[in-house]
Amino acid sequence: MKPHDRHTIVIAPIGDLAPELLDAVGRGVQRIFGLTTAVHPLLSSLSFAFDATRAQYHSTPILDKLSAAASSDAIKVLALADVDLFIPILTHVYGEAQLGGKACIVSTYRLNAAAGGCHYPEQAESRVVKEAIHELGHTFSLRHCPDPACNMHYCHSEADVDRKSTELCRYCRVMLHDELRRITGL
Ligand SMILES: [Zn+2]
Ligand SMILES: [Zn+2]
Repeated sequence: MKPHDRHTIVIAPIGDLAPELLDAVGRGVQRIFGLTTAVHPLLSSLSFAFDATRAQYHSTPILDKLSAAASSDAIKVLALADVDLFIPILTHVYGEAQLGGKACIVSTYRLNAAAGGCHYPEQAESRVVKEAIHELGHTFSLRHCPDPACNMHYCHSEADVDRKSTELCRYCRVMLHDELRRITGL
């Protein structure tokens, strides 16, 4: 990352993630948000977020750590992890974001359940890219969208994720561009 490049979205892999997956996420993010991306591992362990009773990782404290670990030069931080994430009111989440904040995270665990491990078939890769754009959308203050084809639509299942697009609807696109202009001054 160039020093003082305040318009870079940092992609922070946690665990063993395929370089091709990171490339695909980077390309998707650059296309939708029009900003550069750079891969920087920020957290080496998630043990602080592990809940032994649920055998899952609580995503909210991970976001706090990411936000603190990120360089001030990063406009946003998107973490990708291969472990199962939860928030207390839900059995699991595909990801979580700080609404209008700096950090978000996406888990490949359920989106790639069929293949598992380090291999990401096209369908799983596409799901991870969609959810990465979705969670980053929240950090740019976008909320859930009623349009089932819009990327900001809330998804209960992998089938819902497959049905929606990587693209934002016209309404969400306008909201994003207003927010980008506000933050970057571009
Ligand atoms: Zn959401
Ligand atoms: Zn929308």
